[in-house]
Amino acid sequence: MIYDFHVHFGTTSQGKKFTVDDLISAMDYFGIEKAGLSVLAGVDMREQNDTVAEAVAKYPDRIVGYGYINPRDPKAVEEVHRCLKDLNMKGIKFHSWKHGYYPDNCPQLDEVIKAIEPYKVPILTHTGTATLSLPQQWATVAEKHPDVTFVFAHIGYYDFGYGCIECAKRLPNIYVETSGQHELPVLEKALQDLGPERIIFGSDWPYKYIGSEMEKFKALTLTDEMRKAIFYQNAKKLWRLGDELV
Ligand SMILES: [Zn+2]
Repeated sequence: MIYDFHVHFGTTSQGKKFTVDDLISAMDYFGIEKAGLSVLAGVDMREQNDTVAEAVAKYPDRIVGYGYINPRDPKAVEEVHRCLKDLNMKGIKFHSWKHGYYPDNCPQLDEVIKAIEPYKVPILTHTGTATLSLPQQWATVAEKHPDVTFVFAHIGYYDFGYGCIECAKRLPNIYVETSGQHELPVLEKALQDLGPERIIFGSDWPYKYIGSEMEKFKALTLTDEMRKAIFYQNAKKLWRLGDELV
């Protein structure tokens, strides 16, 4: 069983269009059971999140929806409640680089995170792009909200991988997501310092090729238990999928 914590669809900045059916085909090809979806294409939060809700309605067993929130939008808090209550989404996605704010100097962000907290959903945030999306900046946010789970996408990418792991080492409410991180020493350090219980597989499809995102794990010595945690159990826990049965 494989769950992919981090995918998108819509039109990329290069103008290529990817639909939910394309996503499902890619998931089928690589044996991925469920994927966590948010849409970065477009400018209107409500419209963006509606497309994700439609995708979840079309493939409820395969797609897990995330609300994409710009904290500087005056309707951000309202949109959080709409996504998590009305649309039953399982997470929130932030992208401070694309939305143009400094996470450690954005007063609205605290209010938005306080609105998210009671829903107990994870926050997936892009990390690793200077100057607006450093793991260290997002760590100051995670530190202020210790009861909220943050998943740092890309393990801080190329330049900030080691520092990203140091942040997560210090703060137990930070997990790291592996898409785009191809530095084996960074992946090895994550495994050693955080353990498999705080590492989550994600592909960032369609921006990355799922095959290479999966293949790189062959270079690490993973036991079956470790693999299960990274590729399935951690996502299941954060999406609280088991809770639905209660
Ligand atoms: Zn993303």
